[in-house]
Amino acid sequence: MQRRKMIAGNWKMNGLLEDGVMLAQNFANLVKSNGKPQCEFVLCPPATLLFSIKKVVRGKHIAVGAQDVHFAEKGAHTGDISAPMLKNLGCTYVIVGHSERRADHGETDEIVCKKAAAAHNAGLKTIICIGETLAEREAGQAVEVCRQQIAASVPADSIALNTVIAYEPIWAIGTGKIPTPEDVKAVHAAVRSALEKKMGCAEAGKVRILYGGSVKPSNAGELLNLENVDGALVGGASLNAQDFFDIACNGGCY
Ligand code: PEP
Repeated sequence: MQRRKMIAGNWKMNGLLEDGVMLAQNFANLVKSNGKPQCEFVLCPPATLLFSIKKVVRGKHIAVGAQDVHFAEKGAHTGDISAPMLKNLGCTYVIVGHSERRADHGETDEIVCKKAAAAHNAGLKTIICIGETLAEREAGQAVEVCRQQIAASVPADSIALNTVIAYEPIWAIGTGKIPTPEDVKAVHAAVRSALEKKMGCAEAGKVRILYGGSVKPSNAGELLNLENVDGALVGGASLNAQDFFDIACNGGCY
């Protein structure tokens, strides 16, 4: 099954207006000078920059995604942003269930599932994050934890067109540590079979499963060519346009 690779950048809570616009512009220039990519590029800046970044990348083979969404369509949720609002701003994607939100905001699988369903209802595509802690990895529970997160975080009516999974071992995020290729392959295969249970084999075969956690230009070639690895969700390295672009190049996107 041929799946188009995705390279998504999660800027997290980084970037004032001028820096963010400059970063997106620099990245768009790199994409432009190298021709149409074989992969799909997504930039996920902070909510404050979504509108400006969308203007910068429009028509340049780069989609824009948000980093979070509320599950309600509208109402008394001070400080939150709904899926229709993100859609209205020009977002194509939204990340849900990132481990930092699960940890900092107590987001459970049930909440993540509701957020993803709300995003799909509004016509957004989701990047649903899962991944084990270091303690779970050391206890040999990584595969089971990820299987359970897929079962509980992915809405029942999800399809390949609106759903991307990002496997992000929590202990690998921002640490410079990465799992062995065998470990990545084992989790991605387990995620694929958990998706098969949920949506059937044909549909699950089309879902992209990204790897995330300390992806750099130097390790992208190895990670992105593993079986069932359909791209990367990149944090720190996406804050440098050249590094982010080199990850795509080394990962086989050109
Ligand atoms: C992330 O937080 O989604 C991430 C993958 O971060 P980093 O690339 O910095 O490890």
